[in-house]
Amino acid sequence: MSGNEARLQAIYQITNREPIAVDKPKSLKEIWACDVFSLSTMEECLSKSAFKAIKKTVQTGEPLNAATADIVAAAMKDWALAKGVKFFSHIFYPMTNITAEKHDGFIITNPEGVSITEFTGSLLIKGEPDGSSFPNGSLRMTNAARGYTAWDPSSPAYIMHTDNGSTLMIPSVFMSWTGEALDKKIPLLRSNKAMNDAAQKVLSLMGETDVAALNSSCGAEQEYFLVDSNFANSRPDLLLAGRTLFGAPAAKGQQFDDHYFGAIPARVQVFMQDLEDQLYRLGIPAKTHHNEVAPGQFELAPYFESANVAADHQQMTMTLLKTTAKKHGFLCLLHEKPFAGINGSGKHVNWSVGNSTQGNLLDPGKTPHDNLNFLLFCGAVIRGVHKFGPLLRAVIASAANDHRLGANEAPPAILSVYLGEQLEKVYQDIKEGKLIASDEGGLMDLGLSQILRFDRDPGDRNRTSPFAFTGNRFEFRAVGSSQSVSGPLVAMNTILADSLNWIAAKLEVELKKGTQVEAVISVLQQLMNEHGNVVFGGDGYSAEWHKMAVEERGLKNLPTAAEALPVFCDDSIIELFSTTDVLSPVELASRYEVYSEQYILSIEVEAKLVINMAKTLIVPAASRHLADLSLTQSSMADQGIELDSTGIQKTAAELNAMMAAVSKLSAAIETHGFASIEEHLQFSAKQICPLMLEVRTHADALECEVADDLWPLAKYHEMLFIK
Ligand code: ADP
Ligand code: MG
Repeated sequence: MSGNEARLQAIYQITNREPIAVDKPKSLKEIWACDVFSLSTMEECLSKSAFKAIKKTVQTGEPLNAATADIVAAAMKDWALAKGVKFFSHIFYPMTNITAEKHDGFIITNPEGVSITEFTGSLLIKGEPDGSSFPNGSLRMTNAARGYTAWDPSSPAYIMHTDNGSTLMIPSVFMSWTGEALDKKIPLLRSNKAMNDAAQKVLSLMGETDVAALNSSCGAEQEYFLVDSNFANSRPDLLLAGRTLFGAPAAKGQQFDDHYFGAIPARVQVFMQDLEDQLYRLGIPAKTHHNEVAPGQFELAPYFESANVAADHQQMTMTLLKTTAKKHGFLCLLHEKPFAGINGSGKHVNWSVGNSTQGNLLDPGKTPHDNLNFLLFCGAVIRGVHKFGPLLRAVIASAANDHRLGANEAPPAILSVYLGEQLEKVYQDIKEGKLIASDEGGLMDLGLSQILRFDRDPGDRNRTSPFAFTGNRFEFRAVGSSQSVSGPLVAMNTILADSLNWIAAKLEVELKKGTQVEAVISVLQQLMNEHGNVVFGGDGYSAEWHKMAVEERGLKNLPTAAEALPVFCDDSIIELFSTTDVLSPVELASRYEVYSEQYILSIEVEAKLVINMAKTLIVPAASRHLADLSLTQSSMADQGIELDSTGIQKTAAELNAMMAAVSKLSAAIETHGFASIEEHLQFSAKQICPLMLEVRTHADALECEVADDLWPLAKYHEMLFIK
């Protein structure tokens, strides 16, 4: 296809599309968790004693003996076979943000060649994928390929249906032959343990006698874009980089605020219903969906679950978003910034910690000044964000998220904590050594008798804060839409563990000196004096805050991943992770290497695409346009008619400037021999990215000059507005 034929075809296809036939929605009761080997399923198919043992393992982490593992494996196999499953797979989460699976058949043959099925406890517990192609950040030599996956019973097994049959999926951890974590699940489980250990110390010092194991919870709000696949297929950048590397802004974007919470387009509704039914079958509690701010952008949020299960479910949700979109003729873009000039996508990670005896430790109740446990836990978070803000920045660092952070649509790259008016006042009082009753929200009364009055929240929300308290949890708002939630959860659990350990040590001393209330005030007063600087309730987008945060409050502003990733090498971070037993120094170093490599590679891929698209798509279009114009101009001149030549000159100038930038970019990506990873990161951020932008600026100017019927790439208004 030449010129804009692909575009025209796309528009034609979309205009003539028949609606996709979908099944009538099933009742929730009929489908909820029907493909999950849940505790209730196990209760039905296991003996009482086997069920009791596995339940204990799932709920408290108690080890499972080999005999019970065999019984569970047999029951799991029978359950899956009855549902038409022939394969099983340990599913795991390597250090990239992907989900990995290696399928094995249940089948073996006996000496007579008859097929039988086999699935023992040891096959359930351990798998051995050749892990040599997964990034390991120097944790293994190239020739050392052995990697193990091991069953994580705390996240339930399930059946994934695809057009290619159904597979029993077994959530697993992934480690090297030497036992180092090569994945995102091991650190998450360890961070939860570290948080629980530290929390137990504090709660026991606070006189709590009945304390169940604490768990962290997560509810992740997923934003995404849908683009018709006919357009997407005509754009190499969308297919390979997940974002548009070129594209002039449409005359209309999001300035009317007419998309946010607007009526969901019919085709998208059908897609959402199909997706949600699949999520429900897998026991994923999809709870809200709505249009987001940008045209073509949507959000899906589940009801929160324990962090480990939520993280697995989140990965599955991302997979299903993509596969279901394809079925409905869309490309689902999880990239943080698919389109320049309009909002990008994030994934707010809502997080709290609690247990069955004390409840949610981050729930202040109506009178936070009375709730000492809450004040300690919330104080611990404040200290953690202050002390380890750069770490929180580092765990959300990626080439894609760099386009979003600090762009006045997403929280800035400076980590601060928003508490809301009521709590801010309570902690301010504590700083002054007092603990007094705080204002409650009061009643909302509109003076309209038919609108019932209700309790107002004690504080407003702040959408400009990267880390906001939202009533009974913290919301980490700077996480990117394509990222795994594990990194942020590991960081939050670990900094909380560190702070609770610090609090426990101080509290122990203070409790010997005075009453419990006095001890808590004294510890928190010291904490607020050292770390209160991180609390900020104002406009996080403003220039004043950027200046004040850095100059007066000493907070770090790390605008790009190239600046943020080296934080993993700081001594304080190495110490944090090793004292809490979450990541050993080598495991941490491997993460730095892998994330840096990902950053460098994704920019390199984009740069190559920019060069290729500029040369093979944009130059030919602009040249044809110039040829047409100059032909017209000279034939008109033959007839004595002088045509305005500004268009020709502008097109020629932009074309030349674009090619000059392409040459610079081509030379830049040939640069090799960096002295360190850090130098390479900086080169990508400071040299390659600006050159890509330079090419784009001229290409986008050309898009506004070149005749529409010659332009080869689907345009912003087409991709964002044609439904
Ligand atoms: P918002 O108004 O912030 O967009 P949403 O309803 O879209 O709210 O998402 C809020 C998310 O926070 C949901 O996933 C919800 O289940 C989750 N959430 C609520 N309470 C907690 C909690 N205590 N711990 C963790 N997550 C929670
Ligand atoms: Mg939301």
